[in-house]
Amino acid sequence: MSYDVAIIGSGLGGLIVGAKLTKEGRNVLLVEQHSSIGGYATCFTQDNFTIDVGFHSMDGLYAQDPKIKVFEDLDVYFNIEFVDIPTGCYRFTNNRTDFTLPDRVEDAIKVLIEKFPKEEKGIRLYFETIDEIFSSKWKDKTAGEMLDSMFENDNLKLALAGSIQYYGDDPYTLSALSFAAAMSRNLKGGKHYIKGGSIKLTHYLADYIREHGGTILLNQEVTKIIVNQEKETVEGIEYKSTSDESSETTFIEANYVVVNAPLPVAAKLLSSERENVQRLRETINSLKIGHSVLNIYFGFNTTLDKLGHNNYFTVVNDESVFSLSDIFVNNNGGYSRKNYIFVDYGQTDTGMAPFGKSTGIISTVDYIDNWNHLNKEDYNNKKKEIETIFTERLNNLIPDVVNHIEHISVATPKTMERYTYNPKGSVIGFARSPQQVGKYPLTSPFKNLYFASAWSIPGGGFTSIIDAGWQVATSILKKRR
Ligand SMILES: Cc1cc2nc3c(=O)[nH]c(=O)nc-3n(C[C@H](O)[C@H](O)[C@H](O)COP(=O)(O)OP(=O)(O)OC[C@H]3O[C@@H](n4cnc5c(N)ncnc54)[C@H](O)[C@@H]3O)c2cc1C
Repeated sequence: MSYDVAIIGSGLGGLIVGAKLTKEGRNVLLVEQHSSIGGYATCFTQDNFTIDVGFHSMDGLYAQDPKIKVFEDLDVYFNIEFVDIPTGCYRFTNNRTDFTLPDRVEDAIKVLIEKFPKEEKGIRLYFETIDEIFSSKWKDKTAGEMLDSMFENDNLKLALAGSIQYYGDDPYTLSALSFAAAMSRNLKGGKHYIKGGSIKLTHYLADYIREHGGTILLNQEVTKIIVNQEKETVEGIEYKSTSDESSETTFIEANYVVVNAPLPVAAKLLSSERENVQRLRETINSLKIGHSVLNIYFGFNTTLDKLGHNNYFTVVNDESVFSLSDIFVNNNGGYSRKNYIFVDYGQTDTGMAPFGKSTGIISTVDYIDNWNHLNKEDYNNKKKEIETIFTERLNNLIPDVVNHIEHISVATPKTMERYTYNPKGSVIGFARSPQQVGKYPLTSPFKNLYFASAWSIPGGGFTSIIDAGWQVATSILKKRR
């Protein structure tokens, strides 16, 4: 069989590429190793609760947001409903400070100045800086250095670094650019949720691909990207069933291959020892992989506003975290003290829980090394232990919530890796340090091989991935057929 384009992986990046290319008449094959579509952008249903595996919110959707043109072009706006998250950017709480950061710049400045009047100058500078971060002096600086240069008050710095776990595990290794660009987007357009969950978007894009003549294969793992040494191109892929071990490997030809699978996976798939492929492998192996997370999913038999809880997104810092330099130590410490994020999906109209009930998620930074050495029994016991720890901690945040839990389950970094093949269960691809951000192996070793995932430029998160997928699709469309 022969295709214009073969796409490896059905994560959001792969689906955007596939949707745009099939729309423009290209013959596309998308191959996914898992039984379901979406990679990290998917949901599961248990005990009548539908819960997003990872997705908490989408930033942007303001007039100049590049996602708008993509969503318009692919008719996403007519088919997917985005609901506003009404309770601000996030609530930050530790035992010394408790306030909600609004999700509009002017409101955020006002609240912060009221709370930290001595820091007014720095607060104004911070918001000016994140708005124009790419044209400024911050390229080689970390988020921690940026915050230290502007503020004295440690609580203010901690509060502004509240959502850091989405981008890094240590403010002093996270690039100021990555951090500031994401904060700026959150404060421009606010936060939004996809009604019905991220699965609505990924299934919509998959259906779009099929309706426009593309083919999607599930339960098929790509085992090789075939390289034509003489022509210096890739010429197709090999894949094999993940559900039937006795199945044969299939080869298909393709004029272009797009890798949505993680880049370390791509490097192994390339059937070539050419110098430029070796260089790509070396670069990939030399880059530090980003952190993972541990997620605890909840189904509640009530909406939590009935218990007096009124925030969608709460950042809970442990009392032992006094300054930015404590964050990395905390992330590597015990679960009873780890900082965490709690998302109360019931604060907006997700349409994903039975009437009068709601779902929620606790997410905390974690590492696969905390899990890899455990046998099955110890692994399950540790999950149970952590479930108890975090249920108690959630009960401290929302008194009596413990008596309203109908569903609880835990996903570890191993779960993340097993389902998506993201090495170490990384949720951000490569770590986004200033040293690494400019070094990503952007350049593909072959002119008809492309990368579109959290591991390529501009990085992870829905906004970046949609951008990456769009750039790849438009580059392919510019080339002669
Ligand atoms: C817990 C969590 C919370 C998050 N929260 C948010 C949020 O609130 N907002 C936000 O914007 N972003 C969030 N993100 C980030 C966002 O979900 C990811 O950046 C994005 O979904 C990654 O998409 P991707 O296209 O890189 O592919 P992935 O989702 O990594 O998918 C890659 C796909 O490739 C497949 N694959 C791999 N190898 C092969 C192979 N050899 N053959 C065939 N298929 C293969 C995998 O099975 C997978 O389906 C979160 C992520 C996590 C994990």
